[in-house]
Amino acid sequence: MRVVEAEFLRSATDPAIGTGWPDEGPPEIAFCGRSNVGKSTLLGALTGRRGLVRVSSTPGRTRLINFFRLIVGEEKRELRFVDLPGFGYAKVAKSERAGWRAFVERYLGHRRSLKVCVLLVDARRGAELDETELARWLAELGVHVLPVVTKADKLAKHERRPAAERVKKQLGVQPVMVSATDGTGVDEVWRRVAVALGWPSV
Ligand code: GDP
Repeated sequence: MRVVEAEFLRSATDPAIGTGWPDEGPPEIAFCGRSNVGKSTLLGALTGRRGLVRVSSTPGRTRLINFFRLIVGEEKRELRFVDLPGFGYAKVAKSERAGWRAFVERYLGHRRSLKVCVLLVDARRGAELDETELARWLAELGVHVLPVVTKADKLAKHERRPAAERVKKQLGVQPVMVSATDGTGVDEVWRRVAVALGWPSV
């Protein structure tokens, strides 16, 4: 996908529903996953702009929902990427995890413009309870879940298909295997997003 424009729009920090969020409008693609899963790297690869998403130096501690505005493809369609704070960082206390959940669920559970939630899973960890619960809840809300297995390059070639099958069983949807290191799967993520949005083939 050709990304014609990509720019940071704004951050929301207030836990109140809608506060600090941009007005509803273009379709939103949310990105969600465990801290260190490779979310910032994937956002950089999908937009072709590595510097767009500043990588946090203290993973898991960012309590921000970051909105980005994109113009893509020959038709110059507008959409938004929504970078949700990473969850499940090992050093984070239970109370903070609950806080993360409440914050993120306010967005995921109330945003009409939200069309797709890209759920990132580390190739070496696979999906755990956090991811399976989130996928089930999103499906109940009617949000399209797109699982992406990151760091596929960390697996041997013969391990990749079985890893994808496991994630499919766990989350109920065939994942895209991605490696930002060698570029594997990045176009496929765009293709699946376009299909989910009902766009003609890209
Ligand atoms: P975030 O916390 O989810 O935003 O994760 P980052 O994008 O900051 O990535 C976490 C770490 O994983 C960094 O050291 C990245 O260089 C590394 N990483 C991200 N994507 C890949 C990938 O596809 N392959 C490999 N081998 N490393 C990756």
